[in-house]
Amino acid sequence: MSLTLIYNARVITMAEDQAVFTGGVLFDNERIHSVFSGKADQSIAVKAAVKVDAKGKWLMPGLVNTHAHLGATLLRGLGEDLPLDQWLKTVMWPNEAKLNRELAHVSADLALTEMIRSGTTAYLDMYHLFMDEMAEKAAESGMRAVIARGMIGIGASETEQKAKLDESVQLFKTYHNAAEGRVRVLLAPHAPYTCPPDFLRRTADIAKRNNISVHTHLAETRTEIDEYKAKYQKHPASHLAELGLFDVPALVAHGVHLSDREINLLKEKDVAVSHNPISNLKLGSGVAPLRKLTEAGVKTALGTDSAASNNTLDMFEELRSAALIHKGMHENPQETKAYDLLKMAGQTGAEVLGFNNTGRIESGCEADLILIDPDAPHLTPSSVERTISHLVYAVKGSDVTDVWVKGRQLMNNRELTSLDEEKIRYEANQSVKKFD
Ligand SMILES: [Zn+2]
Repeated sequence: MSLTLIYNARVITMAEDQAVFTGGVLFDNERIHSVFSGKADQSIAVKAAVKVDAKGKWLMPGLVNTHAHLGATLLRGLGEDLPLDQWLKTVMWPNEAKLNRELAHVSADLALTEMIRSGTTAYLDMYHLFMDEMAEKAAESGMRAVIARGMIGIGASETEQKAKLDESVQLFKTYHNAAEGRVRVLLAPHAPYTCPPDFLRRTADIAKRNNISVHTHLAETRTEIDEYKAKYQKHPASHLAELGLFDVPALVAHGVHLSDREINLLKEKDVAVSHNPISNLKLGSGVAPLRKLTEAGVKTALGTDSAASNNTLDMFEELRSAALIHKGMHENPQETKAYDLLKMAGQTGAEVLGFNNTGRIESGCEADLILIDPDAPHLTPSSVERTISHLVYAVKGSDVTDVWVKGRQLMNNRELTSLDEEKIRYEANQSVKKFD
């Protein structure tokens, strides 16, 4: 059990008291042993095998990306300025069909590289290719991950549908709570409009029987809702509830087109929402009713969606966009509060992914930590009082210098320790000719 000491940091604890102070933290691979203000006293310092002088950098919990598709990262920059339906059918799905094992790995490696570099310490990956290998990859990379094998039910035969469900259950049995609890698995029907009701009901039954959580896209575009209502005479949220999908812990991505009725339903069923503002803006899908969701008590976290619809996996950028878009939309600067958004991007994200003992710098919590270098014009002038503002409105992912997940250092002074970044970027660039 080797202990690491970080000292001389500005600590943003994100704990109940919202404390920000100069000090440090002592931790190992199990938990944070102590958090202190001022200098570390000798009794703490002597215990540490590794000592990191933060030199005034900002130390905070890592950010959590609650909805991403790692396998699609190589499609970044393809087929821009199209509506969702057309974008999926003419760009995403044909190019995703070209992703072989090698390309899927490069795609995920590139995503991991970008996420660690920009201070993300946990993520959800909904994808359909080689997800057992993606679970292994998550474990090896040192990241905290939720693996969600995306299942499309339409156009699939009974045998194909069963194979997808079996594969998902097998993933759960093999990898749920693997890598000392860093890897979790859930069931992920792609969306109500891509999965027939009987397939969704079977998914729900399996989830209930095996006590597995679920994740799905929900209410992303207005067209999707209109078409769904024309076909089933109900909003997809109501339908998912009827089919039993919300009888287990559920996290839905987007939740853009929800009326008060559906928001109340999500609250009643304790369904969490992954708010993906940049992807929703870019695909012209709309803006989720964040304030209504939070006022109703629906747990709402942040996600980037894929690098093909964002186009980065930088959670600081997502955070800043979330903070701004609702103010503009509602012509009200009080629509969102900086600290609330920061909490959403970290601690709430960890909670909705089922990682309950992280997202705060507190004794006993697991050490998912990042250091940010404030020595930059865009973070000047700096003071304790301005720190939260800077974190939400001014920090960029590239300001992150160091990352630890569960006490293991994944980036050391901007160098990744578990991934070969140069090789990954070379291979990613080589892949360009494979797509159109
Ligand atoms: Zn998505």
